[in-house]
Amino acid sequence: MSKNRNENKEKNKKNDKKIWLLVALTIILVVLIAMLGVFLVQNKQQEEKNVLAYTDLIKELSYGNIEKIEMKTGSTTVKVKMKNVEEEKTTIVPNTESFIELVQTKVAEGNEIELIQKSRSVVSQIPSMIITFLPTLIMVALFIMIFKIQGLGEKGKIYDDTERKTKIKFDDVAGLDEEKAEMIEIVEFLKKPEKFTKMGARIPKGVLLYGKPGTGKTLIAKAIAGEADVPFISMSGSEFIEMFAGLGASRVRKLFEKARKLAPCIVFIDEIDAIGSRRTSNSGAETENNQTLNQLLVEMDGFSSEETIIVLAATNRPEMLDKALLRPGRFDRQITIPTPDLKGRLEILKIHSKDKRLSDDVNLENIAEDTAGLTGAELENILNEAAIIATKNKHEDIENSDVEEAVKKVTVGLEKRTRVMSQKDKKLTAYHEAGHAVVSRYLPTQTNVKEVSIIPRGIAGGYTMYKSDEDKYYISKTEMQEKLIALLGGRAAEKLVLDDISTGASNDIEVATKIARDMVTKYGMSDTLGPIDFQGKEPYEMQMFGENIGDKIGEEVKTLIDIAYRDAISLLQEHRDKLDMIAQALLEKEKINEEDFKKFFEN
Ligand code: ADP
Ligand code: MG
Ligand code: ZN
Repeated sequence: MSKNRNENKEKNKKNDKKIWLLVALTIILVVLIAMLGVFLVQNKQQEEKNVLAYTDLIKELSYGNIEKIEMKTGSTTVKVKMKNVEEEKTTIVPNTESFIELVQTKVAEGNEIELIQKSRSVVSQIPSMIITFLPTLIMVALFIMIFKIQGLGEKGKIYDDTERKTKIKFDDVAGLDEEKAEMIEIVEFLKKPEKFTKMGARIPKGVLLYGKPGTGKTLIAKAIAGEADVPFISMSGSEFIEMFAGLGASRVRKLFEKARKLAPCIVFIDEIDAIGSRRTSNSGAETENNQTLNQLLVEMDGFSSEETIIVLAATNRPEMLDKALLRPGRFDRQITIPTPDLKGRLEILKIHSKDKRLSDDVNLENIAEDTAGLTGAELENILNEAAIIATKNKHEDIENSDVEEAVKKVTVGLEKRTRVMSQKDKKLTAYHEAGHAVVSRYLPTQTNVKEVSIIPRGIAGGYTMYKSDEDKYYISKTEMQEKLIALLGGRAAEKLVLDDISTGASNDIEVATKIARDMVTKYGMSDTLGPIDFQGKEPYEMQMFGENIGDKIGEEVKTLIDIAYRDAISLLQEHRDKLDMIAQALLEKEKINEEDFKKFFEN
């Protein structure tokens, strides 16, 4: 979890840098142009004072008022010195040749005019040229700089990944045995492409990895490259979305140019949903997005299967992807990377505890049992937290208590003993948590209460922790109904004992509502509506099921919740003695463990 967050932070930092650079460059540009403008305007104003209009010059010439005329070859600006006037004036003459003729006739007529013709000096030419072209030069330089910076980031990224081939092997990926077995074929192909092409075998060009963040998608992609000993070129989908139109597409093009040079190789596109989400409207960012996606499709269609480039892509939002990506010859193979099961969690814990000093009392099996639903990244995080907690506690090695604390920290949030609770809040929390626990105890599928506590953790005022039993692939309707009752047990206890309800149940209610909605719209568990998937349907698709289908779904969800709440209340009424006992014990000890909890129900 924290690792992902760090990655994001780093990415943000990088983007921030880029944006700041652009802002800085823009400011410099604006200042330069402004300075130049002021300079030119001032110059012009000064000149204007000393300007003599051409018609006036002709007049003065015929009056005989002109003393000296100085002109440069190739320039239409001439300097004029009039009699009785101190400063020289400048005049722009429309045609120098005819002007010279005019002056010469005046001289011939007997006027004393000194006519000086200078060849233009090279030195004086340059500044004026620079001034004329400076804005253009600055603009060009800026654009070159901007594109260099962008290009650099991109190049640096590709080189980073290719120069050192990844050393990660399948052995570094715990669990996922079936998934690895599927990948072996790809490894073989990257190693000996001839063997496959000779047989006429069609090897997938693209493999899509679906899975929650932290389940090891990047890890397994790297492991494929590592096993095949080929370069690993990676990019994240979000990096393709650029502020300049067309840049995303050109980055895709460059990425594949690079891949062709390095083939056989692996191209890994992380967060592909950022570019590959459904092409819908054509407004702004989406058009850019579409161009990038189109380019990716062109590239994938472009290389032949002999080119031994395999494109792996990862996403945790498969439903977002444009269907075009999934056509044959593109990402026609999809592999789901699940959250690890008990065995997988144990293996992951083993791999990541190798370099940590664990005391003998640490039982990785127990930790694996307590961490159902957690990803590989979260398990790794638990072991890191355990090491930190052990250090704080000045333990020689990481002890079991340190690991248990770390599990709680990662799963529930940091224990906050410092937060003081008023006596009234404490009572409310005690009854709320006791409500969850007691109700659970009488529900066959929810009996595994592991710890009840009113010590605030994270945003929760208290918590009831359940021991996860064996990993389940299916959850029955009964179990879901009982889960609803257990979730509403907290609110029910508040209502029953204090005849008032609090905001403390908001998370329970949120979870319960989601479960009830899933039961109706996803798992087809409503008797009246039947086994239909109502999720993610467009309004016109929903109309298929009747005019007021939305209302009916709402009614069904409400019925499930109402029944569960009613059941929770009646269970607590029936076992009011236990509820009071446990709430009292919580007020005294703040925490009840599994063993002590069970004792309340013996006899
Ligand atoms: P994803 O790409 O799916 O978000 P990552 O591959 O980035 O996940 O996993 C993050 C970290 O979690 C890995 O670097 C690794 O340390 C750990 N991890 C995740 N899954 C596994 C696994 N199956 N075996 C070993 N470590 C894992
Ligand atoms: Mg990843
Ligand atoms: Zn609760």
